[in-house]
Amino acid sequence: MGRVLIIGAGGVGAVVAFKCASVPEVFTDILLASRTKEKCDSIANFIGNNKIKTAQIDADNVDDLVGLIKQFNPDIVINVALPYQDLTIMEACLATKTNYLDTANYEPRDVAKFEYKWQWAYQQRFKEAGILAVLGCGFDPGVTGVFTAYAKKHYFDEIHYLDIVDCNAGSHGKAFATNFNPEINIREITQNGKYWENGQWVETKPMEIHRPVEYPNIGQRESYLLYHEELESLTKNFPTLKRARFWMTFGEKYINVLNVLQEIGMTSIKPILYEGHEIVPLQFLKAILPEPASLGEGYKGQTSIGCQIKGIQNGKERTYYVWNNCNHEVVYKECRAQAVSYTTGVPAMTGAMMVLTNQWTGTGVMNVEEFNPEPFMEKLNEYGLPWNEEIDEQLPIEK
Ligand code: NDP
Repeated sequence: MGRVLIIGAGGVGAVVAFKCASVPEVFTDILLASRTKEKCDSIANFIGNNKIKTAQIDADNVDDLVGLIKQFNPDIVINVALPYQDLTIMEACLATKTNYLDTANYEPRDVAKFEYKWQWAYQQRFKEAGILAVLGCGFDPGVTGVFTAYAKKHYFDEIHYLDIVDCNAGSHGKAFATNFNPEINIREITQNGKYWENGQWVETKPMEIHRPVEYPNIGQRESYLLYHEELESLTKNFPTLKRARFWMTFGEKYINVLNVLQEIGMTSIKPILYEGHEIVPLQFLKAILPEPASLGEGYKGQTSIGCQIKGIQNGKERTYYVWNNCNHEVVYKECRAQAVSYTTGVPAMTGAMMVLTNQWTGTGVMNVEEFNPEPFMEKLNEYGLPWNEEIDEQLPIEK
């Protein structure tokens, strides 16, 4: 039905490749390309049966990307490299009139700031080229936006309060590691927090606000208010929201180590001179931390990510909680991955499937909550991320 080019062969890229290869009736030809070709080859060997072709690519280089896209001629490019590459890959998609999908919004290398403005600026050009860019199609952002659209469609006339809750109660046994790209992850959580309230953003110090939240099948975990990119698109696409917040759990040890790293300057993105070379401390730190793709073996426990929503329908107040729990060990058995890569890779594959099967259509640059949530929610159940819902019960965030 369609040809897919996957860019990025890290933890998430491995899951996207594995999952696409398991649906050959949709993904007829698959090319996995990344900076280090050996990593693509290792993933392709694991999947076997010559289902995946591989290539080397520097996704910072538009000309190289255009060359690769012209050669392979994909119907869609799934970008699961790093947010720094979003704009170069979008440019190459424009030049070749190819659909685009990613899981994280653009951020410039030298400022730890993610915002949709750079990618939303492509709206007109994508429309004129007659192609579609699906932005933020991992779990959060991604499934959390689809969950919110599904809630609105079925249970609410107006959504007023949204709390996205993200818990990883797993244990990988390492002293310190991040579950997705360490550089991007640490940039995200060391920024100031921010949430939406009464028509404006309220800023907090990093991890300043926290509280225990109860997670299904896991129990209570301390959860920290962070700014997360889907808050930007969801507050725009659901303008009735009076408040929107994002919470993520961190263990005490993780926070202690992170504090030390911050205090000694290891998380800084300002270049320093080291033995005559300029190095960025955070990039050096990334180089010595475990790669997310290597964490799967022996990872125990599960994740739970969901949306807790309050609003009105027919003039009556309602509540809705929708979530997925994903087990690290089960995921490892299936595809040698850990649950954070898996919960990102499955939605990316599913979003591409929605485009290739014409269930998500249109031109321009769109966030996932702008599409019909129904077929996507169905496929989540089918491809390894079953979801649960609770209607009109007290929300855990309010207990
Ligand atoms: P990894 O660090 O494991 O993988 C990143 C991959 O991108 C690596 O294979 C890397 O190559 C490759 N890459 C980096 N720069 C380039 C480049 N210039 N050209 C070509 N390839 C490049 O990260 P993850 O797999 O954990 O994360 C991938 C993406 O998914 C990130 O953008 C992350 O923010 C996003 N994400 C989204 C989530 C969501 O729920 N929406 C959750 C988790 C992650 P090399 O191996 O050579 O370094």
